[in-house]
Amino acid sequence: MKTSEIMATLQAKYPGENEYLQAVQEVLESVEEVYNQHPEFEQAKIVERMVEPDRIFTFRVTWIDDEGCVQTNTGYRVQFNSAIGPYKGGLRFHKAVTPSMLKFLGFEQTFKNALTTLPMGGAKGGSDFNPRGRSDAEIMRFCQAFMTELWQCIGPDQDIPAGDVGVGGREIGYLYGMYKKLAREYNTGVLTGKGSTWGGSVLRPEATGYGALYFTENLLHRVGKDVKGCRIALSGFGNVAWGAAKKAVELGAKVVAVSGPDGVCEIPGGITPEMIDYMLVMRASNRDRVEDMADKFPGQAIFHAGKKAWSVKCDIALPCAFQNELSEADAEELASNGCWCCCEVSNMGCQPGAIRYFQSHGIYFAPGKAVNAGGVATSGLEMTQNAEHISWSGKEVDEKLHFIMNSIHEQCVKYGTQPDGSVDYVKGANIAGFMKVATAMLEQGII
Ligand code: GLU
Repeated sequence: MKTSEIMATLQAKYPGENEYLQAVQEVLESVEEVYNQHPEFEQAKIVERMVEPDRIFTFRVTWIDDEGCVQTNTGYRVQFNSAIGPYKGGLRFHKAVTPSMLKFLGFEQTFKNALTTLPMGGAKGGSDFNPRGRSDAEIMRFCQAFMTELWQCIGPDQDIPAGDVGVGGREIGYLYGMYKKLAREYNTGVLTGKGSTWGGSVLRPEATGYGALYFTENLLHRVGKDVKGCRIALSGFGNVAWGAAKKAVELGAKVVAVSGPDGVCEIPGGITPEMIDYMLVMRASNRDRVEDMADKFPGQAIFHAGKKAWSVKCDIALPCAFQNELSEADAEELASNGCWCCCEVSNMGCQPGAIRYFQSHGIYFAPGKAVNAGGVATSGLEMTQNAEHISWSGKEVDEKLHFIMNSIHEQCVKYGTQPDGSVDYVKGANIAGFMKVATAMLEQGII
């Protein structure tokens, strides 16, 4: 297999699908050498099959806004790969959603899920619906309309959606309500991220952020460092950033920045529990503005309009918002301000130039598919609880999550250790995930 040849074919076939092409390129570059040591992979055309989604559903979603106007959006579900388990992955509601974005996310999800140690295939879905400024009633009507199409494609042993950007506990509730009405079954295992009184797992809301900090701890401990006492800049203020901030503070770090599309809030004294709670209020308001934090906590949070979290002095950067949110110039700015570690919590949060910059300047870097896998892993734990009709305690879930994150770190070290003893976490995560999916595909024949 030659990465350049496969990329040329995909570029010709899917021109302009930039996020998808970027995600595929990164994985192929990492695995090329290992792949070419396995002629049986080449014979079964594993790579050519793996880069294509199994299928994509596209549907119209029509709903009525608070003014009584008819609104139309497009909904999607990309079922990417089911070699190691049923399709699993979140739903993203964001104005920029396109098939390219969901194909990149579904592709990443396939390898991420393989790393979790749990049997889950890869999928992603969502819509170009923009939640900004929408009322709660509008969110509900949109979710209901979306589910009237989606419900035919999903099932507890078939495809299990969950949340992602723009889809949290509230949206999962509305989606599940409509699913239940249409299917006439109390099939809790069909969605994850549910409320804790109706089949959801404790700690699922916190899991992505908690898992990211457990992974970061593992990375730092390997080189004799610790999260305690570090200044952390994180981007975003949604569910992922919230969980990361909570765990970072619990571990003794100081969170000095949170950001939004409007700018960054610098918090020189470190984020407080009240501010962490307020992140949930900001998310629920659908205003999409981090400046609200500075208005609520004057003197403690200082708003800089149009600036990114990466302009704030820190030791560790945790991108928690959106793909490609950290550019090469941002990486340089971080480094010049003393940052020495970046753990990507958002999916493909760093541009390829930023990753190259970190890796060539001795800045520790780990990719999203390893760092943020605690979210989907805890979704997997929710599926187990649903299948057994039981619920575990917070302690049980947290122990399992911790164990899974340690195991993901171990897999990265196993496959990513370089001749000089350092660890290339990008390579490690990609090769570990790839080998598992490729082996399963090979054993299941040409389908
Ligand atoms: N959207 C999350 C992710 O990117 C979670 C998916 C899930 O829980 O299925 O992994």
